[in-house]
Amino acid sequence: MKFRFSPFAGVRIIGRGPRKGVKRMGGQTIGRRWPAATAVIWAAAGVFLCLAGCDKRYPAAETALTAQSSESQDPGAVSDIVESGDPNLPHPGTPARLDERRQMVSQIRDYGLTEANILQALENVPRHWFVPADQQRYAYDDRPLPIGHGQTISQPFIVAYMTYLLDLDKNKKVLEIGTGSGYQAAVLNEFTPHVYTIEILEPLGRQARSRFDRYGYTTITAKIGDGYKGWVEHAPFDAIIVTCAPDNIPKPLIEQLKCGGRMVIPVGSVFSIQELVLVSKNDKGRVTKQSLMAVRFVPMLRKK
Ligand code: SAH
Repeated sequence: MKFRFSPFAGVRIIGRGPRKGVKRMGGQTIGRRWPAATAVIWAAAGVFLCLAGCDKRYPAAETALTAQSSESQDPGAVSDIVESGDPNLPHPGTPARLDERRQMVSQIRDYGLTEANILQALENVPRHWFVPADQQRYAYDDRPLPIGHGQTISQPFIVAYMTYLLDLDKNKKVLEIGTGSGYQAAVLNEFTPHVYTIEILEPLGRQARSRFDRYGYTTITAKIGDGYKGWVEHAPFDAIIVTCAPDNIPKPLIEQLKCGGRMVIPVGSVFSIQELVLVSKNDKGRVTKQSLMAVRFVPMLRKK
């Protein structure tokens, strides 16, 4: 499948989705044909709306975020948390807004992403816990939403697709660059307790840490810092996911990827078409890159 976005012609779909059972991306299978045209346009339009923010440079000290350092303002309703009782899901879930979540997931399935574990993860994580108060009613729309400071929570379809590409399991260590609302990290935490996430903007990093603690995503390790440099103390990582777009793939991230690991990253300037790239490092350390689709993410900021 290929999405192509043109600022002049809008979204164009090039080629068709893989047929049922077609092997792709490291031997994983996509269960059925990729999206119907309307669904793709809807999804890609949402991706386009990811664009927010500007190319400012932000000073940000490297700060480890602990429960004690977190703030507690959060729009999500704390009272709707219930314990899951499932040992494989150590954090709480909630039945609140479950119908909306299922509707959102079924839309993602209709686009052609049918992996049951990915869909279940998106059903488990209450996106409304990660969305600001003034956006609550849109929490289960399949589109990015503003989270303040010029940043966005990513579109659920993109969250699902990028998570799928990482091929996670409970033993894998994953690094996310761009914590933002914390939603993507919470989805990763459905697969593995070994989640590390870095946010450059302090208020967002602290707010996300607060949510992780409040809602029980306690195995996520977070810090404020410049994710361009990765997190050398915890490297190497089996998987790296970057949710802001640098102009080029940061060398430190390639170095911190384990042999046999994969990184998914949007690459390109905010003024041009960005591509979602899957970077794979084989057992001998050889790196290959595969361009998957055109996307639009907020730019990667750099620490002064
Ligand atoms: N994964 C997020 C999406 C956030 S948007 C979510 O689920 O909500 C991208 C985020 O990347 C923003 O919060 C932005 O501040 C952050 N960011 C930008 N440049 C960064 C950098 N160099 N290091 C770490 N985070 C960065």
